[in-house]
Amino acid sequence: MSGLFRAPGTGIFEGLETKSRPVIRAMGSPASLVLTGLLIAWGLLMADYRVFGLTAAIPVAILGLGLLVLQGWAREISLASAGVFASAMYYFNWLNRDDQGQGLPWIVAALIAIAIATTFMAGLALASGRLPVIYLVILTLGLQVTIEKTIFPIGYLSGGVSGGNGGAALIDPRPSPLGIDLVGDRTFYFFALGWLAIVLVLLIRLRRSPAGLAFLVMGSNRQSAAALGIPPVRFRILAFTLAGFLAGVGGVLGSMFYTTPPLFLGWDVETSLLLLSIPVLAGVDSMAAVIVMAAYLYVMPIELERWSIEQNFIASVALGFGALFGARGVGGRMQDLERRRRYGRRRQRTKRKRMATAVLRESSGLAGENTSVLTSAERAECLAVLERWLPPRPEHDLALRATDLRLSFGPIHALTGASVDVPVGQMVGLIGPNGAGKTTLFDVVSGFTTPEAGTVELFGRDVTRTSSWNRSRLGMTRTFQNTRVIPELTAGDNICGGAWASVDARTASFLAGRPSAWAKLREAEEAGYAAARLLDVHLYWDERVGSLEFSARRRIEIARALVAGPRLLLLDEPAAGLDPASSSAMFSLIRRLHTDLGLSVLIVEHYVRAVLDSCDLVYVLAEGSVLASGIPAEIAANTEVQERYLGTRLDYLLDFSEDPIPQAPEAGR
Ligand code: ATP
Repeated sequence: MSGLFRAPGTGIFEGLETKSRPVIRAMGSPASLVLTGLLIAWGLLMADYRVFGLTAAIPVAILGLGLLVLQGWAREISLASAGVFASAMYYFNWLNRDDQGQGLPWIVAALIAIAIATTFMAGLALASGRLPVIYLVILTLGLQVTIEKTIFPIGYLSGGVSGGNGGAALIDPRPSPLGIDLVGDRTFYFFALGWLAIVLVLLIRLRRSPAGLAFLVMGSNRQSAAALGIPPVRFRILAFTLAGFLAGVGGVLGSMFYTTPPLFLGWDVETSLLLLSIPVLAGVDSMAAVIVMAAYLYVMPIELERWSIEQNFIASVALGFGALFGARGVGGRMQDLERRRRYGRRRQRTKRKRMATAVLRESSGLAGENTSVLTSAERAECLAVLERWLPPRPEHDLALRATDLRLSFGPIHALTGASVDVPVGQMVGLIGPNGAGKTTLFDVVSGFTTPEAGTVELFGRDVTRTSSWNRSRLGMTRTFQNTRVIPELTAGDNICGGAWASVDARTASFLAGRPSAWAKLREAEEAGYAAARLLDVHLYWDERVGSLEFSARRRIEIARALVAGPRLLLLDEPAAGLDPASSSAMFSLIRRLHTDLGLSVLIVEHYVRAVLDSCDLVYVLAEGSVLASGIPAEIAANTEVQERYLGTRLDYLLDFSEDPIPQAPEAGR
């Protein structure tokens, strides 16, 4: 079935399906077709009270999709969703109704109500700024309670405790948009489904666009987002704003549905907690599961009414079961099933696709520079695709110049005047004992830490005060000591997550479904797939990264960094955690990428032999400053380095027949 919607690539792109036409692709999966069929059949065939029950779930499903963005994508939290949703509902009713209201046209009332909900959430994002999540819990709880104490008691908005503002009921008849009479509940059900469909189309497009991936990268790790050119603060605010917007849209739809404002007691903090269960159960990345969860929460109480089983109990049961599914939720399991349907059982897939480290060394070209699973023509094609994707080679001689960097953490002097140059097109190694200041220097160079003194220049431009994401846009990308990929997403999504800053199309164009925007994304996918092929992880393209072995994750992170379009690549211990032979293989792979793509590379590593073997230039850092620098042979012969750093002769490290590979001794901090 899905073959209908697949556009498999040819040649080196064989196995790469296009992500363009994401809505058709999403709708084409059996789960979506079944869900769509059920929703339509429900409206046509079910009894009135059941149709009414499911209609009540649709505004909440829209709110739940906002929570998916906030909680699933951006990994933030809100305990104010019921309050924000109800505020939009009450304000719309008041602004729209003629009797005891403002009598505004429904579209104007809707825009104002949605703006109110959006402002609440955007305000929260601005107020919580850099605070840890626990503060956000308190702040959002505070907002919910404030709404309960200020907006809910206003009689003309919510109707007060009795629901009738102490007198006549607050009735706002359903509007008739485009002349459609919405009085009948069945008609309203399909009208609400239409709203849900519009929201879904836009959200699916957003999720598949580079911005959607940027949300997920930011949610998984803010520093790695910044290193890829994704401004974390902006995406965090956007996630809150979008969640507020969708709460507003849901609230307006709910208000149209109920005609008289529902009692505010149903939108208290308990309901906010109950609503949290929707994205928790749905998992980080499944819109269909959000809809199923919202429907479950609203339909089950009606079905189980004769046993007096309440919504809260139903939600608790669901959460209990949901815990069994883990962070990936029901949606993650559904995606696993779909993967199994398309590619076979996991064991068979992994047998076919997973390469044990040993196999990797022997057969995939990582063991030596002259062997490769790619033919030389394929390799050349992959390099050409990637080269087209990378920004033009900079004119400047120096990719990086860090001068006299100084930084202390209290009494610890981490950097005491370190200076490092990375000439364009060279691979530079940075070695030194534990605590020498290598990671601190990386953090300063990549913009995560501001030095107390000293300057950082990138391709001749002073970037000492430039944000890390803007440095990335100037051509520098880094990876981290502990691999920071998104385990819940596929390798393909992880790799394309690096493309946000490099895809030359606006998010609005993706939302509008403009083919030119999706064509740009296709270019990014092809660059990502070419990088994946060069790094030998293309067979994992549709595989969830969390199920892959360690070295594959490392290589996926490097492929993602390549898609971010670097001309200077900073690699922080790329071989950490790998066995010596795999480390050597990893270095030879990096060396080949560096040579073939003309990348400038600065690499921190503990495996001295690998650094001396691969790098053009080596810096030895000790106690926060440069102890020695030069070509590998000079470093190996430097007596001060031998005495102070290694306490031994270094020249034997160049004898590669020795096994195991000698490693820099661990020195005390
Ligand atoms: P390793 O090889 O173990 O990663 P390194 O050479 O990268 O070590 P850094 O991590 O840069 O060394 O640390 C340099 C010194 O600064 C160490 O003494 C470390 O304890 C200290 N340090 C680093 N970051 C901080 C911090 N955020 N707060 C306090 N001290 C820090």
